[in-house]
Amino acid sequence: MADCLYMEDSYLKEFDANVISAKERYIILDKTSFYPNSRGVEWDTGKIISKKDGKEYNVIYVGKFERDISHEIDKEGLIAGDEVHCFIDWGRRYKLMRYHTVAHLISGVFNRNYNLLITGHQLTPEKGRIDLNMEKFDIEFIKKNN
Ligand SMILES: [Zn+2]
Repeated sequence: MADCLYMEDSYLKEFDANVISAKERYIILDKTSFYPNSRGVEWDTGKIISKKDGKEYNVIYVGKFERDISHEIDKEGLIAGDEVHCFIDWGRRYKLMRYHTVAHLISGVFNRNYNLLITGHQLTPEKGRIDLNMEKFDIEFIKKNN
């Protein structure tokens, strides 16, 4: 499994890596700071630049498949063994990080104040959704206890 650089430094905006596998537009790196679509939080986008010819590839989707993190790029051209420099789209990532923190805070308030369980969430750079397990939705109860 590739090294997940975001686990050690969530503020890492660029990094060097080696392509260990390339199938058409799907790239696996020996290490990555691109966060994959997982746990209700959307993936990072950004750029991968080949050191051999300076060609730029846009990262349009990042997914985790079994143990691998796969980077979908906008065109073919990279091959196994290529050395690359990668940039995270920091505007998108930082929004997702902040939404993630807020989602945990809101979940904590609902859990602590109303004893509601959080069953899931989905965060995008535009909006967030938090799923709560309520036996019966009662807006008056929420208003009264706020
Ligand atoms: Zn979380």
